[in-house]
Amino acid sequence: MIFTQFEDSLFFTVTSRYGGVSKTPYDSLNLALHVKDSPKNVLENRTITSEKYNFLIENLIYMEQTHSANIAVIKDASMNRIENCDALITNVKNIPLMVMVADCIPILLYDPKKSVIAVVHAGRNGTFNEIAKKTVLKMVDVFGCETSDILVCLGASIHKCCYEVGEEIARLVDEKYKEKRDEKWYLDLHSMNVDQLRSVGIKNIEISSICTCCDEDYFSYRREGITGRFAGIMKLHG
Ligand SMILES: [Zn+2]
Repeated sequence: MIFTQFEDSLFFTVTSRYGGVSKTPYDSLNLALHVKDSPKNVLENRTITSEKYNFLIENLIYMEQTHSANIAVIKDASMNRIENCDALITNVKNIPLMVMVADCIPILLYDPKKSVIAVVHAGRNGTFNEIAKKTVLKMVDVFGCETSDILVCLGASIHKCCYEVGEEIARLVDEKYKEKRDEKWYLDLHSMNVDQLRSVGIKNIEISSICTCCDEDYFSYRREGITGRFAGIMKLHG
């Protein structure tokens, strides 16, 4: 990943669906409590993940994701679950931030100069609401980040090969972000996010080529309906 050169100061990962204890259709490393999987299994999956990556589960911050453009700046780990929120930012060490997805884009951001991290949940609504760009602007506002210093990774998510939308949605989107195949419209959410990020001065963007709907190593809402969530997780080392 784009962050590899900073491994001494930063932990980052995008999980897959393997290595957990959940049963079908959540098999097996489902990290989300809101998808009607057994909470006991989800908590065990989170513990397995924290032990694998060596972070403190009691410090893990996750969101009640609502496809909003709401962004929270995390100052401590007193609250693990942030309500009605789709992006987290922190400069505090040893607090892992988690975004959960199954087709939506998990966006990870890092400013190595100011030592600030962020995770973003960018589905269609989040992208339409420019949540990634707003998160960058918040990093600038609150922590004095320079946008040209911020590295961004768009993790495994549904690509335009599979992201079919109806006419009413396609109509809302500029020509360059959609294509028509066999009378059906497909959106390119990645390009929309990239252009929004570039518009505020982001220079370094990596896009995972993995399409979650094509690749069965990942949970995919489009492919499976009832399913689990994998996650993007970042943490500043202490
Ligand atoms: Zn695909």
